[in-house]
Amino acid sequence: MQKGKIGVSSDNLFPIIKKFLYSDHDIFLREIVSNAVDATQKLKTLAGRGETKASVEDAKVRVSLDEEKKTITVSDNGIGMTADEIEKYINQIAFSGANEFLEKYENDANAIIGHFGLGFYSSFMVSDKVEIVTKSHQEGATAVKWSCDGSPEYSIEEADRDGEGTDIIMYVNEDSKEFLNKERISEILNRYCKFLPVPVVFGKQTEWKDGQQVETEEDNQINETNPAWTKAPVDLKEEDYASFYRKLYPMGDDPLFNIHLNVDYPFNLTGILYFPKLKNSIEVQKNKIQLYSNQVFVTDSVEGIVPEFLTLLHGVIDSPDIPLNVSRSYLQSDSNVKKISSHITKKVADRLNQLFKDNREDFEKKWDDLKIFIEYGMLTDEKFAERAMNFFLFKNTDGKYFTFEEYENLIKENQTNKDNNLVYLYTSNMDEQYTFVQTAKDKGYDVLVMDNVLATPLLNKFEQQYSDKRFVRVDSDVVENLIQKEEETESLSWEEKEELSPIFQAVCPETNGVNYIVDFKNMGEKGQPIVITRNEFMRRMKDMGQLQGGMSMYGDLPDSLNLVVNTAHPLVQKVLEAKENKMGEEFTTIKDELAEKKQERQELEKAKEGKKEEEVPAADKEKLEDLSKTIAELEQQKRAKLTDFGKQNKLTKQLVDLALLANGMLKGEALDQFVRRSVELIK
Ligand code: ADP
Ligand code: MG
Repeated sequence: MQKGKIGVSSDNLFPIIKKFLYSDHDIFLREIVSNAVDATQKLKTLAGRGETKASVEDAKVRVSLDEEKKTITVSDNGIGMTADEIEKYINQIAFSGANEFLEKYENDANAIIGHFGLGFYSSFMVSDKVEIVTKSHQEGATAVKWSCDGSPEYSIEEADRDGEGTDIIMYVNEDSKEFLNKERISEILNRYCKFLPVPVVFGKQTEWKDGQQVETEEDNQINETNPAWTKAPVDLKEEDYASFYRKLYPMGDDPLFNIHLNVDYPFNLTGILYFPKLKNSIEVQKNKIQLYSNQVFVTDSVEGIVPEFLTLLHGVIDSPDIPLNVSRSYLQSDSNVKKISSHITKKVADRLNQLFKDNREDFEKKWDDLKIFIEYGMLTDEKFAERAMNFFLFKNTDGKYFTFEEYENLIKENQTNKDNNLVYLYTSNMDEQYTFVQTAKDKGYDVLVMDNVLATPLLNKFEQQYSDKRFVRVDSDVVENLIQKEEETESLSWEEKEELSPIFQAVCPETNGVNYIVDFKNMGEKGQPIVITRNEFMRRMKDMGQLQGGMSMYGDLPDSLNLVVNTAHPLVQKVLEAKENKMGEEFTTIKDELAEKKQERQELEKAKEGKKEEEVPAADKEKLEDLSKTIAELEQQKRAKLTDFGKQNKLTKQLVDLALLANGMLKGEALDQFVRRSVELIK
C-alpha cells in the first residue's frame, strides 16, 4: 500500500469544504453521477475511434444505497483510472488563492465547486470516508483502490474489480443521515439527473402483486437519455413537444406554443421554450425555466441569465457555454451570457412574428393569454419592444384586433385633434365605463380595451415614444373634450355659470377621499345633462403609484372628479328658471347691492390709477377697504342663498344622482332616496 498527501496548498481542504459548502449539500450526488456519466461517454468516444477494446454495450451508471453499512455507491462501466491517473486527477488539486476566493463566495457552493473542479471532493460534504475502486479500460490494467478519511492523507492499494469502470463509495457521516434514505436519493436524482445522456439506475422497478408493492428484476432507470430538446426539430411532432411539456410540468395548463432553440455558433445552446397561458399577474409565474449544462440540471432560477421578461416562459435551456458554476453577479456581466440572452430574445420575437404572419386568426385567439408577456417584454427590453411593434395587437371594444400601424390608419381621420395629435381612446373596464364607451362610439370614435395591470405603463411608453400620440381614457372628460377639434362655443353667460356652480356643488355627495369640481360645457341638447369624469393625468399617476407600491405620493391623493354640467341641456335651463322663480326679492336686493358696491369700488380704483401710494387720500383707502369687506360679505350671502336653493331643488339633486348612477357611484341610502324622489317626481 502506498500513502501520500493530497496536493493542496491550503493546509487542510476538508474543513473548508465542510464549512463553506454547507448550502446545497445534495449537489454531491449530481457531481459524482455526472463524473460517472462523463467516464462512460469518454469510453464511448474512444471506442468510436477504435482506441479501446473495452465493451461499451450496456453503458450504465448505478446508484445504490446500503442503509446498514451507511454507504452510497455510484458505479459506472466507463473509462476507469490507473494509479497514475488517480495521482494526476484526484490527488493534485490546484488550490491557489483559495482563502480569498472562499471568502468571496462563501455561500455559493456552486461557485466554489466549479472554480476548483471540486466536483469529486464535494462527496466529502456528506462523508466521513470516500473510496474509489477503479479499473482502467487500458489493456492489462490492474484495479486500484483509493481511500481517504477526510484528512489530507490518502492511501492507495491494489484491488479487485470485474471489468473496467469506477465505484465511488461514500461512507455517509452522522450529520448527513438524511441521505441514507431511498426517497431522498430518488428525489435528488429526479431533480438533477432526470435527463442525463447515459442510463442512470437506482434500485429495481416495483409492481403490484397480491395486494402489495414488490420489487421486480428490472432495473429502475430514473432518467430519459434523449430528451426532446436534444433532438432535431424536424424529428419532433407537436405531440412530442406537448408530452415533453407534461414531463416538465405535470400539473401545468397546456402551453400556447413553443420555440425550439438550436444554436451552435457563436455559442452552443439548445432548448425548448414554451409560452404558458398567463393570468393577469406576473410575480407568481416566474422561475419556471430550467437551466441545464450538457443535460445536467443546474438551476431553475434563471434571473440574470435571460432577460427578466423571459423568466415568464417555461421550458429548458441547455448550454455548456454558460459558466454555470460561478456566482450570479459574475454571470450577469459575462459577455457570453449577454450574447445568449439577446439571442434568445431575438428568437422569441422572431417566433412570435412568424406565428402572427402564418396564422393571424390563431394568434388573435391566443392574444389575450399572451399579451401580458409581450407587454412586459416591451416595457423591460427595448430590443424586444422594437421587434414587437410588428405583432403587438390592440383590441377594441368590438373584439377586433389591429396592429399598431393598422389602428393608426383606422383612427387617423376621425381622431386627430386640432393640435394634430392622434388621440387613442381606451377603456379599462367596459362595464363600469359603459356610458362613456357608448357616447364615444355614438360620436363615431373607436375605443380600445386596455384592461390589465400593465396598460398604464405601456401607454406611457407609447406616448414617450411618439410625441404626436395621446392616450385618453373614455371617462377622463366629456366626449366633446376627449378629442378637441375646434374652439368651443358657449351657451351660458359667465354670471349664469357663476350662479349655477354653488347650486350643483351643494348636492355633490360628501364622501371621504373624493373631491368634486363643478365645470360647464356645451354638450348639445341631446347630450346628458351632467357627466362625471376623472382626470386622466391624476388617475394615471395614481395607477403608477399603486404599481410601485406605496413609494409614490400620488397613490394617496384623493380622487378628483369633475361634475360637468351640460349648458345646452333643457333640464339645466330648467334649473336656471326655477332659481329665477324661487329666489325672490331678497336675492335680487343682494344682487343689486352687490352690483352697486362693485361699481363704486371700480370707480375708486380708477381714481387711484396712476397715483403713487402716498398720493391716495387716506379716506379713499379706508373706503376701499370697507367696500371690499362688504362685497365679500354679500358674495357670501349670495352663495349661501344659492346653496340653499340647490339643496332644496329636487331637480338639481335628481340630475346629479342620475350622473352618479350612470357611473355606478350611487349606493346605499343615497340610492334609496333617489328611488323615492323619482317616484315622487313621476307621480
Ligand atoms: P471535473 O469533473 O470537473 O473534471 P471532478 O473533481 O469532478 O472535476 O473530477 C476530477 C477528475 O477525476 C475528472 O476530470 C476525471 O478525470 C476523474 N474522475 C472522476 N470521477 C471519475 C469516474 N467515475 N471515472 C473516471 N474518472 C473519474
Ligand atoms: Mg466532475
